[in-house]
Amino acid sequence: MNRITHFIAGRREAGTSGRSAPVFNPATGEQIAEVVLAGAADVECVVAAAKAAQPAWGEASPLRRARVMFKFKELLEQHQSELAAIISREHGKVQADAFGEVTRGLEVVEFACGIPHLLKGEFSAQVGGGVDSYSLRQPLGVVAGITPFNFPAMVPLWMLPVALACGNAFILKPSERDPSASLMLADLLKQAGLPDGVFNVLQGDQEAANALLAHDNVNAISFVGSTPVARHIYANGTFYGKRVQALGGAKNHLVVMPDADLDQAVDALMGAAYGSAGERCMAISVAVAVGEVADALVERLAARAAALRVGPGTDAQAEMGPLVTRAHLDKVRGFVDAGIAEGAQLVVDGRALQVPGHEAGFFLGACLFDHVKPGTSLWREEIFGPVLAVVRVPDFEAAVKLIDAHPYGNGVALFTRDGDCAREFVQRVQIGMVGVNVPIPVPMAFHSFGGWKQSMFGDHAMHGMEGVRFYTRLKTVTSRWPTGIRAGAEFVMPTLK
Ligand code: NAD
Repeated sequence: MNRITHFIAGRREAGTSGRSAPVFNPATGEQIAEVVLAGAADVECVVAAAKAAQPAWGEASPLRRARVMFKFKELLEQHQSELAAIISREHGKVQADAFGEVTRGLEVVEFACGIPHLLKGEFSAQVGGGVDSYSLRQPLGVVAGITPFNFPAMVPLWMLPVALACGNAFILKPSERDPSASLMLADLLKQAGLPDGVFNVLQGDQEAANALLAHDNVNAISFVGSTPVARHIYANGTFYGKRVQALGGAKNHLVVMPDADLDQAVDALMGAAYGSAGERCMAISVAVAVGEVADALVERLAARAAALRVGPGTDAQAEMGPLVTRAHLDKVRGFVDAGIAEGAQLVVDGRALQVPGHEAGFFLGACLFDHVKPGTSLWREEIFGPVLAVVRVPDFEAAVKLIDAHPYGNGVALFTRDGDCAREFVQRVQIGMVGVNVPIPVPMAFHSFGGWKQSMFGDHAMHGMEGVRFYTRLKTVTSRWPTGIRAGAEFVMPTLK
């Protein structure tokens, strides 16, 4: 059985805990590997390695750090298909989608290549007679990233290029469900010339995550995962005096106005609801049909959802793969059962789907519910599967009210041809990332990714300038070089004369 290990100080290490977990191929249902799970001694070891390596890396010129990023970008491009295949094999998403995931991560590496420019501070000459003031941003030291299963390359790449380029040492604690991509990232960073110990991978579960949270030598935590865990990470990390950014779950709505181009809206909903089997934090799981658009929208969606091509990630024709684990499949099926019990109308039922040759895989066909009522579990809960709920509302006001009432605030989209309506929506809606005729408005690397309300805890979103601010501390210097003049001791606040 393939053993997936830690990566500490430039080497693969099996660790000392004796604990491990199975890793599955979701398309076949078979166990394909086991991943080691860190214990307290492994956490000590990885933090010590990172702490030892960080000072020299932090003192290296930003240009030198940028050159490592340039090389890393080149290597990632060369190995992109290989990395996509690794992701697809453990996660289940189709390979083309995994390739796209790596591209979105690569964009953050490209952003980090500009670090000499991004780290430039501010300078004010003559803030007083002969006195200048300037600010600079310095690395935090050792920082850790705890990441979810659904983007095993992209989410680590939201964090590590910026953290490393800013001069920090980084410890990645990936999801134990699809851990192999993390080791490939580590190998490529090493090949790119990153000194040993500056990037490390600690495989593990909540034991490893919680030990990192409490460790005195870890200065910041970046987290992406479900909301209950994000809340726990934020509360405990800040309790231990760390800087924390913790991104949580989501329930994203797409509003279809009566004047929307219906073909565009249906295409958008299909990709955003069922792509990656709905296992995306920016997936659309609620379609809000405004006014008379509902019947036509549901009719077209139903035809498309029933015809969706579902298969293993290696099938180039497949539009959607399996769910990540059997336990997750059972959970998502449970939501479908609950939706029926709550009185919603199941227009397309994917529960009986069989993929020939992959009968033991964790597959669920596309499910489409109509007449879903606000407040029910189908509307309220993050299902994280291929289940789209249509909620019918009478008008624009009711659509905005519905979205505002939801505790999550990650992404939202509006489909309309009316610029005035779109502008009002953008201004009023209480959501962090908004799409206008764009179903999944994931910000580019040079902007920042982050939700509102229960979808994010902490002040800094991921990557872009928010990332640079998160991974650095501001230092402000006031300096003068007087020659000869002695003003004597000053006992009052210095003010400009
Ligand atoms: P998860 O919360 O179960 O796990 C995330 C990470 O936390 C993993 O590394 C896991 O090992 C660790 N962990 C789990 N329980 C823990 C605990 N009690 N204490 C400390 N650490 C713990 O999430 P998941 O199932 O891997 O990923 C899916 C979730 O991630 C969804 O809710 C999805 O919306 C969310 N997500 C959010 C974003 C975003 O940007 N907001 C992006 C991707 C995924």
